[in-house]
Amino acid sequence: MNQQHRDLIERDRKVTFHASTHLRDFAHGDAPGRVITGGKGIHIVDKDGREFIDGFAGLYCVNIGYGRTEVAEAIYQQALELSYYHTYVGHSNEPQIALSEKIIALAGPGMSKVYYGLGGSDANETQLKIVRYYNNVLGRPQKKKVISRQRGYHGSGLATGSLTGLKAFHDQFDLPLAGILHTEAPYYYHRAAEQEGMSEREFSQYCAQKLEEMILAEGPDTVAAFIGEPVLGTGGIVPPPEGYWEAIQAVLAKYDVLLIADEVVCGFGRIGADFGSHYYGIKPDLITVAKGLTSAYQPLSGVIVGDRVWSVLEQGTGQYGPIGHGWTYSGHALGCAAALANLAIIEREGLTQNAAETGAYLQQQMQAAFGEHPIVGNVRGVGMLAALEFSVDPARRAHFDAAHKVGARIAAAALDENLIARAMPQGDILGFAPPLVATRAEVDEIVARAERAVNKVTDQLVREGVVKAAMSVS
Ligand SMILES: *Cc1c(COP(=O)(O)O)cnc(C)c1O
Repeated sequence: MNQQHRDLIERDRKVTFHASTHLRDFAHGDAPGRVITGGKGIHIVDKDGREFIDGFAGLYCVNIGYGRTEVAEAIYQQALELSYYHTYVGHSNEPQIALSEKIIALAGPGMSKVYYGLGGSDANETQLKIVRYYNNVLGRPQKKKVISRQRGYHGSGLATGSLTGLKAFHDQFDLPLAGILHTEAPYYYHRAAEQEGMSEREFSQYCAQKLEEMILAEGPDTVAAFIGEPVLGTGGIVPPPEGYWEAIQAVLAKYDVLLIADEVVCGFGRIGADFGSHYYGIKPDLITVAKGLTSAYQPLSGVIVGDRVWSVLEQGTGQYGPIGHGWTYSGHALGCAAALANLAIIEREGLTQNAAETGAYLQQQMQAAFGEHPIVGNVRGVGMLAALEFSVDPARRAHFDAAHKVGARIAAAALDENLIARAMPQGDILGFAPPLVATRAEVDEIVARAERAVNKVTDQLVREGVVKAAMSVS
């Protein structure tokens, strides 16, 4: 590492509080830092000039890849005209209007209006407020509970961190808050011994049954909404088992429970469809979008409100006056300009189609490389989302002892190969979500580097006696 880079990191250690970081180790120089200075396509570059393949598109958000000057230009042009004016009491800006038209057209029939925020967490916070407002207007003040799923990821705030079903986001924060419940994750590979013999379809029915039991136990007149990602993201990159969304939606319809589709990862092409909801036949009442909306060239999120909810919101303001909800930066003109330029690139370059086609190739190559690997228990994914789940004994789907930190070690070994893949926070799972511009040749390179990293750690584990010598791969 060069002196300039070291100096920057030293300054950073003294003054910055980093997300998802071992705070003490980082502040005291015992955990690594890195300063990123640029990027192009699927690559990023650090202050040393070292180039990495970003196999996770930042945090699955840089869908059009890095260094797209067209987006920078759109932001600049808008900034010259108007960077910001608030959007309260009916004020608007031209990019916001064009963007809302675009989003509603993409979202399809039944979707009515878009409310803007800055990130997925604040958008889901808006969702929770809408759900409360909706049931108060309908005269059902007791219908307020929201059901999420174990391993769901919906943000990091007090309420949205409560929706999130991951231990690290709850512990020491006194979460989840009351009124937020978690039902079975649609995680077929992790099914318990009692579900061992179930087919995917049967497991989906089982998940729906668990949901119904929860609704009945709580009282259907107290359950307002269900929130889920079409494909579990941060919880492990887990596509739903066959028939899952159909079975879940039948239960929600039966008890008049609103469905919020959290499309923050799936929206705008990631799995080879405009929305994950389209791919899986989900008919949500409310949709959350962020990440791929701007490919992170500016912070922007959205809540897409369907007709059914919108009509009640209108009725509510008829009764109570203007809605008491708004962020200073709602509908920020620079965010909307960036989103329009981003969506134009996705459309013009056929990136959703590429996510379907090159994504299918990614899935196939991952299967070919890891399907029979001695420490890989599960290879899964859809479109440009993929995961490897490591197992000490794949035949029994047995997990490694967490103390061996297998996922984190493999992510570190990948980094040695200049490949960024993400060690997912709960389990030994390595996640991939490359920018949607990735080509087949780039997919080959990602898989080749991942293979070297997995094999290197496998050999270490053999030497350490954690896995049997017969499993050595070199
Ligand atoms: C990232 C994410 C969020 C939270 O978005 P932030 O912009 O980090 O607040 C919410 N939902 C899902 C599905 C996400 O992946």
